[in-house]
Amino acid sequence: MSRPAPLLALVVPCYNEEEILPGTMTALADVLKDCKARGLVREDSFVLYVDDGSADATWRLLEQRHAVDPCCRAIRFAANAGHQNAVWAGMITARDWGVDCIISLDADLQDDTAVIPDMLTEYADGRDIVYGVRCDRSTDTRLKRDTAHLFYALMGWLKTPLIPDHADYRLVGRAVLEALDAFPERDIFLRGLFPSLGFSTSRVYYTRRERAAGKSKYPFWKMVCFAWKGITSCSPAPLRLSAFMGSLCMLAALAYSFVSLFKYLEGETIPGWTSLIIVVLLLGSVQLFCLALLGEYVAKIFSEVKRRPRYLVEKTL
Ligand code: UDP
Ligand code: MG
Repeated sequence: MSRPAPLLALVVPCYNEEEILPGTMTALADVLKDCKARGLVREDSFVLYVDDGSADATWRLLEQRHAVDPCCRAIRFAANAGHQNAVWAGMITARDWGVDCIISLDADLQDDTAVIPDMLTEYADGRDIVYGVRCDRSTDTRLKRDTAHLFYALMGWLKTPLIPDHADYRLVGRAVLEALDAFPERDIFLRGLFPSLGFSTSRVYYTRRERAAGKSKYPFWKMVCFAWKGITSCSPAPLRLSAFMGSLCMLAALAYSFVSLFKYLEGETIPGWTSLIIVVLLLGSVQLFCLALLGEYVAKIFSEVKRRPRYLVEKTL
């Protein structure tokens, strides 16, 4: 299957990016021009910047660029709403403006734009989601790399579908953009959401560059909070931890109750110790079990309040 050249929007979240934005706007305009010249996208394709409530000159720079370049479009949040909301807003706005597909990428262009034509080729071949995956993390600090691997291992253990070394650099086709309305939850973690959707997907590989200017908006602790948000918004498994611990404690409590009874019969204990230890152990494990029971119902509420669709139809004949 080969699709016609799509109307593309490059969706770029920006938060206080005045230092890097002039270079980014020029680079992305060139990328777009090149894709148009090669017939990979329609002539009216554009870049959509989402100013996530910046306090610096970001919006002024976007206004200036828009005045001379109609391919530069932008929306501005009234206040900072976070990277995930900015990408979401960009996708929904572009969809409402009639695009066939979007490619989301960070304003610092750490994600190599050289693979955009490859993404578009995959789209032309019928893929609805194309993930940009880093094949090399050598530009990250050791700490960031190790914690990222730990996070992917944990998510795998929790059975949450996640593409290792993929952040938010991805192409999303119209069919998937339409499906996003069916996910009205507030707490979004896009890199966990997309792989759970299904659809026809593929990957392109690239090397991530260093940030050319400005500072990372994700220092270590914000990264840890983001990972925690990812775990808790994608999986109810942590709620079930108490069931696991409750079972372990119950077994240990039973075993230790026998030991303490044996010691009591041997006359090795001071009066009151045996009854006390048995009551403490059994009560502790019963409490953990009750917590697990509550957790199970909270997990059901968690999945109900998201109001996610039971299924998504991809094709109909
Ligand atoms: N960003 C945003 N809102 C925020 C934080 C970041 O829109 O609250 C944007 C930021 O401008 C950049 C992208 O998200 O385009 C990724 O941020 P950054 O490059 O600082 O993250 P890192 O690459 O260091 O993980
Ligand atoms: Mg970055």
